[in-house]
Amino acid sequence: MPPTSILWLRRDLRRGDLPALGAAHHAACSDDGPGEAAVVFVVDPALWQGAGDARRAWLAASLEAADAAYEGRLCVREGDPVTVLPRLAEELGAGSVHVSRETTPAGRRRDGAVAAALAEAGVEWVETGSPYAVGPGSVLNGEGAPYKVFTPFARAWRDHGWPAPAPEPEGLRLAQVRSDRSAVQRLQQARDAADLPDLSEAGEAAALRRWADFRDGALARYGTDRDRADLDGVSRLSPYLKIGAVHPRTLLADLADGRRHPGDGAERFATELAWREFYADVLWHHPTSAWHDLRGSLSGMDYDDVGDAVEAWRQGRTGYPVVDAAMRQLLREGWMHNRMRMVTASFLTKDLHVWWPVGARHFLDHLVDGDIASNNHGWQWVAGTGTDASPYFRVFNPVTQGLRFDPHGDYVRRYVPELAHLPGKAAHEPWKHADGHAHGYPERIVDHAEERREALRRHDAARG
Ligand SMILES: Cc1cc2nc3c(=O)[nH]c(=O)nc-3n(C[C@H](O)[C@H](O)[C@H](O)COP(=O)(O)OP(=O)(O)OC[C@H]3O[C@@H](n4cnc5c(N)ncnc54)[C@H](O)[C@@H]3O)c2cc1C
Repeated sequence: MPPTSILWLRRDLRRGDLPALGAAHHAACSDDGPGEAAVVFVVDPALWQGAGDARRAWLAASLEAADAAYEGRLCVREGDPVTVLPRLAEELGAGSVHVSRETTPAGRRRDGAVAAALAEAGVEWVETGSPYAVGPGSVLNGEGAPYKVFTPFARAWRDHGWPAPAPEPEGLRLAQVRSDRSAVQRLQQARDAADLPDLSEAGEAAALRRWADFRDGALARYGTDRDRADLDGVSRLSPYLKIGAVHPRTLLADLADGRRHPGDGAERFATELAWREFYADVLWHHPTSAWHDLRGSLSGMDYDDVGDAVEAWRQGRTGYPVVDAAMRQLLREGWMHNRMRMVTASFLTKDLHVWWPVGARHFLDHLVDGDIASNNHGWQWVAGTGTDASPYFRVFNPVTQGLRFDPHGDYVRRYVPELAHLPGKAAHEPWKHADGHAHGYPERIVDHAEERREALRRHDAARG
């Protein structure tokens, strides 16, 4: 019988530009001809329980699309991968399990345990590629140390370069392997349970369509429009990048043809992708930074307990329109504009004086693109505890941020119906209008100017 290999998909739910697929195909081929590669996804209860409804629904919809891309041959199993994969390898007589390298602390721990269990069963573990253009841990400075600051990292990252997109292996044969019925049902229920607008747009084909639309449209103005919450000025590719429906290498290869991209949009977009790579690199070198301050300089900070004010923040009822619009966008769509992520994170950490992991957890519970490296280091950037941290004295003013990045109030009115009657920028300051709170919009829960002073006082005290 020709040999079989297993491709275990995790954060790489696609068929194109997937080096591990090529490796699995190659391993399945022998002198007797091509064997079959079995493509599997394992619903791991440890991860499933930790993901919020939105992320589970997005995963389920993305798996459905991946199954179609793999001609209905994606096998879904349920359980601890440490036992599921050796059992599956035995069932199929597979000699190797192929993956894209996982880079988060939890993923690395799990993969170590799975590789050891497979080795005991005489099955080879093969890592090919990663979810990043440049594998985390690969970009080092002249002394062989990791970069601590983004700009020199980004320069070295570009100099390092990345391979061209991987072609689909020729003569690929996919094994037909039964799925666990319980896993299929669980995914179906998760998909039906969440009421998200974009679920029908999951998958690789949709990701590539979205990319092409953005590349041929908003990319040209990306350098100027990317901060505007009211405009359609960003790619909204983060949920696809998170799940691996598209690889950043595919996008970067497309961007490299500068003639097609007038203006500085392409350059700026590549820099944003570099942020994603930077944060993955930081996490690779500092695994504890997932949930602890990366820099110790604020370790003596006096934080407030989580109370009613945090609940008001979570529900989008702080009385600051742009903060509330953004928090409601998160609950409604499972996504939030980058500028608004910064504004809302600043509000929690600097206006409500709450330690950043509280907010990071809430974001991870609700974001479809929830990613431990980008999210938790994004939070640390705002809180002033991370690598390349914003100065501790930078406190975002929620009113001026709103007036600047939603100048006509459209973003606020889209998500906060109680303010729909306030025209233009009036929506940003309902307290200045006699009917501003007429439709139940709450009063401000704190005075920003006062809390800014308090934040600075606490920061100064923490820094001695
Ligand atoms: C507090 C906070 C939490 C965040 N949490 C997440 C998260 O959980 N998952 C996530 O993918 N991003 C996160 N980000 C980064 C950023 O907000 C999102 O990547 C971006 O809003 C996604 O929208 P987009 O795809 O339209 O981005 P675009 O502007 O179109 O950018 C393209 C891609 O570049 C990457 N990117 C852009 N900005 C950043 C950034 N600041 N940091 C890292 N990567 C970036 C993303 O992969 C994004 O999809 C967070 C930022 C902050 C400040």
